[in-house]
Amino acid sequence: MKSFESLGLSGQLVEVIRQLGFETPTPIQEKAIPTLLQGNLDLVGLAQTGTGKTAAFGLPLVELVEENNRNTQALVIAPTRELSVQITNDLERFTASYKKLNIVTVYGGASIRDQIFKVKRGAQIIVATPGRLIDLLSRKVVDLTAVRYVVLDEADEMLNMGFKEDIDEILSTTPDTKKVWLFSATMPREVREIASNYMDNPEELSVGERNRGNENIDHQYLVVDERDKYLALKRFVDNTPEIFGVIFCRTKIDTQKIAEHLIKDGYSADALHGDLSQQQRDRVMKSFRNKTLQLLVATDVAARGIDVENVTHVIHMNMPDEMEFYTHRSGRTARAGKKGISLAIVSKREVNRVQQIERSLKRKFTRVMVPTGDEVCQNKLLALVHKVKQVEVNEEEIDSFLPEVYHELRELSKEDIIKRFASIEFNRFLEYYRDARDLNRSERKTFETTDADDRYLTGDRVFINIGKMDGLEKGNLLDLSAILAKLIKSILARLI
Ligand code: AMP
Repeated sequence: MKSFESLGLSGQLVEVIRQLGFETPTPIQEKAIPTLLQGNLDLVGLAQTGTGKTAAFGLPLVELVEENNRNTQALVIAPTRELSVQITNDLERFTASYKKLNIVTVYGGASIRDQIFKVKRGAQIIVATPGRLIDLLSRKVVDLTAVRYVVLDEADEMLNMGFKEDIDEILSTTPDTKKVWLFSATMPREVREIASNYMDNPEELSVGERNRGNENIDHQYLVVDERDKYLALKRFVDNTPEIFGVIFCRTKIDTQKIAEHLIKDGYSADALHGDLSQQQRDRVMKSFRNKTLQLLVATDVAARGIDVENVTHVIHMNMPDEMEFYTHRSGRTARAGKKGISLAIVSKREVNRVQQIERSLKRKFTRVMVPTGDEVCQNKLLALVHKVKQVEVNEEEIDSFLPEVYHELRELSKEDIIKRFASIEFNRFLEYYRDARDLNRSERKTFETTDADDRYLTGDRVFINIGKMDGLEKGNLLDLSAILAKLIKSILARLI
């Protein structure tokens, strides 16, 4: 294994890295840093998030940019504002002692005036989302004519999000002599096209097998009825008290709904999606980062590229249609060498999709069972007992209160005290999980009326798209639904 010194970085930067606590370079850093430090090559890096790719391009960028030259020399383009902010934070950590180096981040949804002010003060490195950068270019605030390096981070995501034209437009305003460093978790045709249009015989690096995903992620799934997904989620969370996770939903509405239900049911949860204001999103991300929030419920787009340490679980409330979405979702856990679990809560109809993703990732997914009510209660109790065993007693502070406590409890035996103490927390769960039914479903395709087209939390709905124009009056609509109900019942009776 190589050291950071041997990759060709300056002593100043090696010292910064040491202070950040990075001991050895990650595989992508080991490969990319010496190549990029040459300064005259284009590069395509196939790397998942969490592999240390920000430092892989960030450290060489910081070395190559001239601090005493006030022109914008490097541009980093990323798909979301969260990712842009994250990249900027990383670059700022690398350059804390570079007094003349300005790194400015520009993204939509925040005051453009502040960003203009910062860019005008001089920015040797600009980190941007495509839309806002185009805006600043058209206002002639940003000048890219002296740019020497362009980094396209999470290129596949930018193309998924429809930024192809913006990227073309941005790149066309940079000099032909610039070098392009492209990073992507996957390499679909569109990303290849960017590489062939804008790069000259690029170096290609990849870490891990193509599309294989992070080895430290344990992929699991459980099978329930669509309508039981929320219950299954709750049970899983109750059974995993130490969970610190991101829950992915397909739509903003589902995201909001699941978050609201979790909050109402007493969990530490909040939603992150595109309908929230920038301030709201910042607030949610801040409390997730400092772990006052235990569960972040998010859409694919809003949570893309988020780097929060020690996320234990990624939970999918549905299987995403795109393979890349699964990779990006599950990449929120098992970051920086840690282990993590990616759990898909699927209905029987989605099991196929699990198998497809399994084949594509070449990783085995383990079927796990939704815990029974008894199991949840037992685990909760054990967690409580564990907490009692581990708690630090502040002898000095508590001493003066104890005589009164002993007096109050004098008639209870040791066993009684334990029982009562445990029940304080436990009763709530016992009550909730008494007679809790088994939520697990078989994976095999059988005809089951419960797995019809109902959506979790919404119950069954039938939309009848006929009305007055079809000769139907209000009064006989009810008759019609009664007729339909009878019809469905008799069909089912014959089928079962
Ligand atoms: P990234 O893939 O750039 O989002 O990085 C994932 C995480 O790994 C970030 O929290 C980095 O701070 C951390 N990291 C990057 N490089 C190293 C390294 N060589 N050793 C330890 N942690 C690292």
